[in-house]
Amino acid sequence: MKIDIPATGARVLVRDAGPRVAEIVHSLTDAGAVVDVHQSGPHPVVADLASRRLVTVVVQPDLASYDVVLRDPARYMSDSEPVPKNDLGSVVLVGGGPGDPGLLTLAGMQALREADVVVCDRLAPLGVLDRLDPRPEIVHVGKIPAGAFTPQERINEILLEHARAGRNVVRFKGGDNFVFGRGGEEWNACVEAGVSVTVIPGVTSSIAAPALAGIPITHRDITQGFITVSGHVGPNDPRSTVDWRAVASCGMTIVMLMGVARLPDISQALIEHGMDPETPAASIADAGMPSQHVARGPLRDIAEIGAAQGIRPPAVTVIGHTVDALHQP
Ligand code: SAH
Repeated sequence: MKIDIPATGARVLVRDAGPRVAEIVHSLTDAGAVVDVHQSGPHPVVADLASRRLVTVVVQPDLASYDVVLRDPARYMSDSEPVPKNDLGSVVLVGGGPGDPGLLTLAGMQALREADVVVCDRLAPLGVLDRLDPRPEIVHVGKIPAGAFTPQERINEILLEHARAGRNVVRFKGGDNFVFGRGGEEWNACVEAGVSVTVIPGVTSSIAAPALAGIPITHRDITQGFITVSGHVGPNDPRSTVDWRAVASCGMTIVMLMGVARLPDISQALIEHGMDPETPAASIADAGMPSQHVARGPLRDIAEIGAAQGIRPPAVTVIGHTVDALHQP
């Protein structure tokens, strides 16, 4: 038996809290329900949920005031309830993570399952699209280096055209759509056109790529922060709006995306602005993919070492003392 939880704001009473009460409550609150738990004795999990304000514990519930009463939720809930389709069409910006399907979020996967159309980039974990049944229409708009690409204005139009035709559209990108992903432009285009738009954050490569190479981007007693910067234009390029002097003196881990081609200029600029040339650095290419590889070296040499070791885009370069922070197992 399946239970359809009514839309956002439904009042649900969970009776007989059992071992799965935490999952049940989370899935109910994820669906927008307001959850009370009927409790007759002490229950540590329920107490924890209540302390995090996810549920309210009631001792004498007024059953008539609830939309749904679950006597034994573990018996009746199915694992994933498909959300009803929106007749008006919608756009969901889904961050796919750095490329390993295991790093796509559950919410992102669910949005893909519900999609009629997926508008995707090449750095998204595209393998998951193959396993969707029924298969949505797939529109590739990714920018292949030195190859074909679809201008952003056209991508916006594609999203709107499909949504206006009543389709559920997923805009599927690598990493997180709001980190150098032009997700903001797509969001604004939808809002201006009156099209419903939501975002599902993704695991950004700016954090995941260092992590997958065994590099934390913060570490107690080493740095109190990190900065993510695009290296797609160099420090002497008139299009650059980055204050590289400030970056060099920020005292935080520097994570650079889209910087392979400009790394020689950028590392030199950081040194000229006062960074120690011996600062540890690493470049991580194809993080999370079977092809992942990592080059390490001091800031002074990292561009050369990376080039010699075949580091090519997509790659993230991380600069700072956290690069050496972890003990090697
Ligand atoms: N929105 C993405 C970033 C898009 S810009 C995110 O949040 O991750 C594209 C850049 O992301 C690439 O040039 C590279 O610097 C980085 N990148 C994306 N996927 C990567 C991966 N698997 N390994 C290393 N770098 C990656």
